[in-house]
Amino acid sequence: MGWFRRHGEASIPIDAALWRKATAPWLFMRGMLPVDAERLHRLAERFIAAKQFSGTHGLEISPLMQVEIAAQATILVLELGFEWYEGWSEIIVYPTQFMPEREIVDEDGVVHLVNDPMAGEAWLGGPVILSYEDVALTADEENRVAGYNVVIHEFAHKLDMRNGDPNGSPPLHAEMSAMQWKHAFTHAYDDFCARVDAADDLAERDGGIALDALPIDPYAATSAGEFFAVASEAFFETPELLQPAYPAVYEQLRLFYRQDPSARLASLG
Ligand SMILES: [Zn+2]
Repeated sequence: MGWFRRHGEASIPIDAALWRKATAPWLFMRGMLPVDAERLHRLAERFIAAKQFSGTHGLEISPLMQVEIAAQATILVLELGFEWYEGWSEIIVYPTQFMPEREIVDEDGVVHLVNDPMAGEAWLGGPVILSYEDVALTADEENRVAGYNVVIHEFAHKLDMRNGDPNGSPPLHAEMSAMQWKHAFTHAYDDFCARVDAADDLAERDGGIALDALPIDPYAATSAGEFFAVASEAFFETPELLQPAYPAVYEQLRLFYRQDPSARLASLG
C-alpha cells in the first residue's frame, strides 16, 4: 500500500490496484492515453499530499475516497498545473447531501432562513465541501446520471475563483481571447435558459421528460458561474452531448483546459 509521505517529496503514493479500482468506471477516463492516465495518477498523489481531507457527521475518509476525490479534481488541471489549486487546503466530506442553514436577504429586505440540500460547495479562498454519496455516484454505472460530477463541478468553481467570485470567467491563458470566451458563453447561456424555460413548460405536460432531453444539467441555467461549472462537467463526462449542442463553448473549454475529450472518445472508434 505505502500510505506514507516520502521523505522530502510532496506526494503520497497511490498503489496501482487502488488507482484502477477508483478510476476504471469513470466516463472521463474513456479513451485516455496511458501516458496521460499516468500523469493524472502522479498529480492525484500530489493532491492527496497537499490537501487536508476531513470527514464529518461520522464519515471516515478511506484511501479509496481520497483517490476518488483527488483524481476527479486533478483531471481539470492535468494540463494547467497544480498551482491552480494553491492557496487553500481543506476538503470536507459529508456522508450524504448536507443542509447548511443560510440567511438570505431578498429584494424587499426580508431575511429568509434557507436550508436546501447540497451536493457540494466551494468557498473563495476556503474549503471544498462534498457529499460522498454524490462523489460515489459517478462510479455507479447503473444509477449515475451521465454528465453529473460533483467533484468536477466544485473544482471548476475553484478555478473560476482564481480571479475572484465564481462568475463564469476564470483567468484565461494569454493565447485566448476574452471576447471570444464571453461571446461563446453569453450566447450559449441565453440559449440554454430559453431551452430550460421551454422544457419546463413542456415538462408540466409530459412529466419531466422534456428536461431529460436537455444536453446539460438544467441547473446550468442558475447563473453564468453555474453554467461554466456544469459545462465543465459535461466537457469531461459527456463531450458527445456538449460539443454538438454548444460547439463554441466546447472550443473555449478545450482551449482553457488544454484537453480534447471528444478526440479521446473518437480515438476509441
Ligand atoms: Zn455550483
